[in-house]
Amino acid sequence: MIKLVNELNKKEIEGKKILLRVDFDVPIVDGKIEEDFRIKTQMPTVEYLLNNGAKVLLLAHLGHDAPGLSFLPITEQLGEILSHTLTLVPHDELSSIDDLFKVSKILLLENLRQDPGEIANDESFAKKISADFDYYVNEAFATSHRKHASISAITKILPSYAGLNLDKEIKNLEYVIESPAEEKVVVLGGAKISTKLPVIKNLINKSKNILIGGALANNFFKYAGIKIGKSLVDDDVNLDFKSDKVLLPTDILISKDKTGKSITNVVPLQDIDPDFAILDIGPQSSKNFADIIKNSKTVVWNGPMGLSEVEIFSKGTRVVAEAVSGVSKSIIGGGDTISAVDKLKMIDKFGFVSTGGGAMLDFLAGEKLPGLEALGYYN
Ligand code: ADP
Ligand code: MG
Repeated sequence: MIKLVNELNKKEIEGKKILLRVDFDVPIVDGKIEEDFRIKTQMPTVEYLLNNGAKVLLLAHLGHDAPGLSFLPITEQLGEILSHTLTLVPHDELSSIDDLFKVSKILLLENLRQDPGEIANDESFAKKISADFDYYVNEAFATSHRKHASISAITKILPSYAGLNLDKEIKNLEYVIESPAEEKVVVLGGAKISTKLPVIKNLINKSKNILIGGALANNFFKYAGIKIGKSLVDDDVNLDFKSDKVLLPTDILISKDKTGKSITNVVPLQDIDPDFAILDIGPQSSKNFADIIKNSKTVVWNGPMGLSEVEIFSKGTRVVAEAVSGVSKSIIGGGDTISAVDKLKMIDKFGFVSTGGGAMLDFLAGEKLPGLEALGYYN
């Protein structure tokens, strides 16, 4: 059983030093945070702790690898989004954290991945960052599929709690898995079939239909022997499962390049010219998918239907987004999916938007997430 942060009352929190693991690994363009949705989901937990008198050190990473980037260029903007002045704490100033807390009740530790101990799930690194702290709270669902020190090892050192949004993530994704199959549709697009195939396999018997668009569909076309030209595709995926629940686009939008400036054609699914690529689902498929979605109660959607960053290839994604937003229980997620609906100004139109990309997929694939395991979720 997971313990939730709001099981701690004011008396237990007041004056305490709390490590709050958050996920601030958001897209940055020209030195600016491009989308603040995911950061904002973590605010209620920050406020809960501060309002109850805690001293909070935020733990977060930026970028994939150690030694990684610095939070310095975006610290001020992060503070603005969170409505608090944030002070960045370099790793070698952790020993003077009490002095820093005298100035501000909320601090941000420099990119965790600057220390190789983070990714290595090193217990001594976990000890170093938790020295003299009282509690640990995990509000970083999007990183909870990683067995890293600030997600896993740290829970062996401090009494550990789940953040308010992390709890919502779990409840919504549990619902996706457990809600009645006959009223549930799964919509998958984007790329990276290897990360999405386990979701298809886990949900195929738990849903009415699985609708496949985006570059994901290209793998199925190729597997079926259709010539897909220059379309984006993963190498050598084994798709040898048969199910009439899996529906693919029946028409496609093709173009010679990704600029959106070359000629584009809508064609029925067929062998395409070697110098063309499939860049969106066609209008007929968009309508078919939308009709199936509208006839469902629960829809989970991950992955754009095409190269939606380019306006002319974003129509399928828009039609699907509109249909999904209309069902009674809509749950969406994925970094690029969030960016796409954010651009469409639709992010607040869904029942639940998961902050997790890989974490959401792993959960839906029925895999154990190390971060949830560390909080006792599977016990
Ligand atoms: P998410 O982050 O939502 O899980 P993915 O990372 O799997 O989604 O994939 C999103 C990316 O896939 C986007 O950059 C999108 O442009 C790209 N994409 C989707 N369909 C196509 C396509 N037909 N051709 C090329 N790229 C595509
Ligand atoms: Mg992505």
